[in-house]
Amino acid sequence: MAKMVDEKSSGTKKPKKASSKKSKTLKVSNQIPAKRRREIEKALDAHSHSRPEWDRLTGAKQHRFFGKRIKPGTLRRVDFPLLETKLGDPWSTPVTVIHGTRPGPTITITGGVHGDEMVGQVVCSLLSQSVFTGPGRPLDPELMAGTVRLAPVLNPPGLARQRRYFPDGRDLNREFPGSESGSTTGRVAFRVLNELVNGSDFLLDLHTAASGRDNLPQVRANLAHPPSNRVARAFGIEVILDSRGPKGSMRREAQKLGIGSLTYEGGGANLADHEAVQIAIHGVLNVMRSLHIIPGHAARPKFRLLASGSTWVRADEGGLVDLFVGRGSYVEAGEVIGRIVDPQRPHESADIISPSRGLFICTANNPIVSPGTPVGHLLPITRGSRLIRKGLDKKTNRLIVSGSKGEPVWREEFEVEDISIDGEWSGGGVDAEWQRDWPESSEREHVEASEEEDAD
Ligand SMILES: [Zn+2]
Repeated sequence: MAKMVDEKSSGTKKPKKASSKKSKTLKVSNQIPAKRRREIEKALDAHSHSRPEWDRLTGAKQHRFFGKRIKPGTLRRVDFPLLETKLGDPWSTPVTVIHGTRPGPTITITGGVHGDEMVGQVVCSLLSQSVFTGPGRPLDPELMAGTVRLAPVLNPPGLARQRRYFPDGRDLNREFPGSESGSTTGRVAFRVLNELVNGSDFLLDLHTAASGRDNLPQVRANLAHPPSNRVARAFGIEVILDSRGPKGSMRREAQKLGIGSLTYEGGGANLADHEAVQIAIHGVLNVMRSLHIIPGHAARPKFRLLASGSTWVRADEGGLVDLFVGRGSYVEAGEVIGRIVDPQRPHESADIISPSRGLFICTANNPIVSPGTPVGHLLPITRGSRLIRKGLDKKTNRLIVSGSKGEPVWREEFEVEDISIDGEWSGGGVDAEWQRDWPESSEREHVEASEEEDAD
């Protein structure tokens, strides 16, 4: 994919495009293979979404979470210890439970499974605030059906240290289902799965790319698991990756319990990426609308890329890469997507060529590469390219993700800026000076007009 160009010997300044494509066939990504498609259809046909316990004719019962009872139409914050301890730090984490007045599904939304991933932590925190939960707002418990559980930070020590892992070096999202007597992280996994995830009908786990990468906002779910398929589509986003999830991940274990689950990925680690936050909130509210937890219609994207495969574009030389693409960039086969330079050999460079037409769902933001370092994660596009092109930003050639535009709901209160000007009304009142200059009858007409103009 890379081609060394020595400016001195070749005599040209412009590196050439690669003329010969690799013969290796790429997996078609925006088309689920026929066998998998049949598997998904069969699963969906066999599944019934009807749940008599969500029937609106009956009243809502008390909701139970971690030994606490929450009355219908109320919101409660519960301190949820992630570890069972008598001594030492139990790593308490706040869970906001919003319990509606009518029966309906229970949906759990989690952030901060990886301590350095801020987007989910910001999203769950914002959703817990009165701008969302107050009277007449989208998550007003008086107006809601079912129950929403918000857990912004499932790895508090990771957040404190800005680390992905728990202090024992383990990745919580690879330790599920965990065990009561296992490693520290395994015990946290056990408790989270049994106390927080269990008892939910749906789980939305919010993530970003790992450090050094930037993810196009996207959803990952097992499309052959009907409740997961349902929430993935309801999210209202363009890119859905069909996968069961890594071994030990929370969503994979949740699926085994029959819980409709998805992972949202948007932005990168250590950043509160505003666009990724906005798209996540848009998606979460869409899911709640679609499940009739909150009123309104879920917004749908113009198209969906249901992907069953992807390809990593790698650097073939070492050095520093100047990447011409970013998350959501749409590229053609043979397009130069970046240039590698080596400061020790500044006269040389190597181009990185896109192996196929496609959409970058992730790009590197760490410029240091060795041969084999991935610089981008590409969904090869073989169909629907006309539709996809319509969804691109004309200037940047990047996909405009649904929900990224428009006024963020939670900033409404802060839209109008108040600028205060100190002082006193001259003469004792707003119009005092006008009155002092009250003219004689000869100028009467003119002043009446002024008065009107300045009236409060
Ligand atoms: Zn993550």
